[in-house]
This record gives sequence, structure tokens and C-alpha cells, in this order.
Amino acid sequence: MSYSYDEQMFRQIIMDHYKTPRFKGLVEQPGFVTVHLKNPSCGDDMQVQTQVENGVITEVHHDGSGCSICCASASMMAQLVSGETIEQAQAKKQAFYDMVSGQGIDEELLDEAISLQGVAKLPPRIKCATLGWKAFEQTISKETVEQAEGVTIVTE
Ligand code: ZN
Repeated sequence: MSYSYDEQMFRQIIMDHYKTPRFKGLVEQPGFVTVHLKNPSCGDDMQVQTQVENGVITEVHHDGSGCSICCASASMMAQLVSGETIEQAQAKKQAFYDMVSGQGIDEELLDEAISLQGVAKLPPRIKCATLGWKAFEQTISKETVEQAEGVTIVTE
């Protein structure tokens, strides 16, 4: 197999996040909303935990197991949305969904996550790449936040 320079660079970024995930590990503190999602088609299992204060995502954590695309994507997601307003985080989430569904790449919003752009050509892996983002999306949804703290939703 031969890769172009970009593809090699992207693989390195993905493997770096897979081997050295950012913000990995859940915390046992009040004020966090945790959502647990599974992707049975690949065996990915992901929990995302978010703390929101005054419309800003103050902390995001993730934990789980799965393929390199799923785990690396969750790590990149946490890095991208930490410290952002909910609006900015939603914009990044949408940019990521657009990228993996082949609808354009916003480098400014997605930063290192552009390394996952190849997923757009691998439809079965889109679920892997978006699992962490979907869990994150649920942690900041109005309905979830309005529920009791520490809520865990398991969806298969
Ligand atoms: Zn997967």
C-alpha cells in the first residue's frame, strides 16, 4: 500500500490520539452529565462526560473501548470542545458530521480531526467516528442537562 503525504500524516495523528488519548477517564464529581453509547456493528463502547457552566463546556471526559477510529475520534472531540461555548461546540460537531458524510471539510473548526476525513469513503466506519460526538451531543442536549446529575443513558 502506498499513502500520500497527507494520508500518512493523518494516520499518525489518529494513532497518536488512539495511543495517547486526551481527556480519557471519567471523574466521580457532581455536576457532570454522562452518556454511554454503543456501536454494536464494531463493538465500540463509549462514555462521554461533560460539565457545562454558564453555557461553556468547562470539562469533557471520555472512556471506553473500541477501534482506533472511535477512540481517536473521541479524544479529538474532547480536545475540540473543551472550553468552548455550547454554540461553538455544536458548530464543530456539525462540521465533523459534514466531513465524515463527505459534505466538505472545515479545517479551521476541525483542526486535527481533519485526519478522520477518510472515513467519508468508508461508510461502515462513520458510526465509529461519530460515536463519541453523538454521546457528547446528548450530554449537552437540553433534555439531558435538565435531568438529574450523573444521568447515564445506554443506547445500542
Ligand atoms: Zn469502530
